[in-house]
Amino acid sequence: MSHEKRIVECSGPHDPHALDGISLLPRTGELDRACPQCFGHGQWNREYDLASQRSKRHLCDKCEGRGWIETGDDLVPSHDVALSPEGYPDWVIRFDPSNDVE
Ligand SMILES: [Zn+2]
Repeated sequence: MSHEKRIVECSGPHDPHALDGISLLPRTGELDRACPQCFGHGQWNREYDLASQRSKRHLCDKCEGRGWIETGDDLVPSHDVALSPEGYPDWVIRFDPSNDVE
């Protein structure tokens, strides 16, 4: 009749099988740390079929799928060029507030 299905429904990334088959994302830019909501995965399974390992996935709304976040309290270091006292351009580290709106 119908082929075997063993679908697990996940209410969130903490549920069993919610992160099955989803790999960790590499850190990008100056983002602070792995997203506490999706644990650095950027998404999780809303439904996961244990038989076929097919899934319906949900994009993390905290990190918008990046897997990494800026905490918002720290200044974000970025490279910039400034004029040195001797009058030539020099590499400096500039610190700006993060753009996180949280
Ligand atoms: Zn996330």
